[in-house]
Amino acid sequence: MKIKEIHIYSHDLPVKDGPYTMANAEVWSLRTTLVRLVGEDGTEGWGETCPVGPTYAEAHAGGAVAALTEMAPGLVGTEVWPLSLQRRMNGLLNGHNYAKAAIDIAAHDLIGKKLGLSVAQLLGGAAVGKVPSYYATSVGTPDDIARIARGKMEEGYPRLQVKVGGRPVEVDIAAIRKVWEVIKGSGMRLAVDANRGWTTRDALRVSRECPDIPFIMEQPCNTIEDLQKIRPQVHHGIYMDENGVDLNTVVTAAGTGLVDGFGMKVTRIGGLRNFAIFRDICAARNLPHTCDDAWGGDILAAACVQAGATISQKLCEGVWIAAPYIEGNYDSKNGIRIEGGHIALPEGAGLGVTPDAGVFGEPVASF
Ligand SMILES: [Mg+2]
Repeated sequence: MKIKEIHIYSHDLPVKDGPYTMANAEVWSLRTTLVRLVGEDGTEGWGETCPVGPTYAEAHAGGAVAALTEMAPGLVGTEVWPLSLQRRMNGLLNGHNYAKAAIDIAAHDLIGKKLGLSVAQLLGGAAVGKVPSYYATSVGTPDDIARIARGKMEEGYPRLQVKVGGRPVEVDIAAIRKVWEVIKGSGMRLAVDANRGWTTRDALRVSRECPDIPFIMEQPCNTIEDLQKIRPQVHHGIYMDENGVDLNTVVTAAGTGLVDGFGMKVTRIGGLRNFAIFRDICAARNLPHTCDDAWGGDILAAACVQAGATISQKLCEGVWIAAPYIEGNYDSKNGIRIEGGHIALPEGAGLGVTPDAGVFGEPVASF
């Protein structure tokens, strides 16, 4: 099956009750980039990529459109199979995994729709029909975050991720303590995510002052060298998120025992094919991990749920999607929704969602 047409769309996703605050960023609205691939028989597939602002990762919305525009002329007429497509994309542009991921997701959707199979089936088969999600707070006052923790625990979320960093570490410690007072004994698991925002001094202090609270530290500091430095000194598990930029880094981090798990984004690792490889590396080393994206609408959410459903239950730390923080759905009928802290695997072929006609307006580029 060859690719006949590629269309690129831009779309704004306002943040509900914004801004969303992390250690290094504050976002009010996110521009997402969508790709529509058309196969030679007319079958269509959708992909999406949406960096959460320009400072979270080495990625930004304008860069996604530019990278896709650079590659697209060389992709029309080529095979849609994900490995062939990945080799072709790597021959057209170095790096830019987050843009290549949109093409890869669209290819999986197209192949699934053509064959009448879900993307989860294409990735090896779903382990569950409903995936656990987790709620990620903003960086906020200890009282506000504790109140949100109670609400999300009562909603049925099995896991909470508290954002910290970008302020005095004493306030972070107070927030972690207040949250733990609320969720202790409930079975709700806790992750503390500094989004690279702590110094090693801060991370060591938090671990030293909270030895009784069983949280994992997600990407506490900025670099791999920082993680290596704190690794032998902390009481808490360490997960890598932002530093896990490619499979090479993942193999090293897993193989050297640097981390106890990962937060992983489908777009950062280069799409669904690479995510499935990442999943299998983690399974081989018995390392838990999430299946997330930075931000985005129904297409990315569906990609994360389809991939997340293929992770063994024992190792799945949850699927994070932006749905609770944005208004509306692209697919008004089958759009992805979180209910009771879990997300049902969408029914139907491919990603299981199809955007309503005209929701993204005219393409910004067509090939
Ligand atoms: Mg994270």
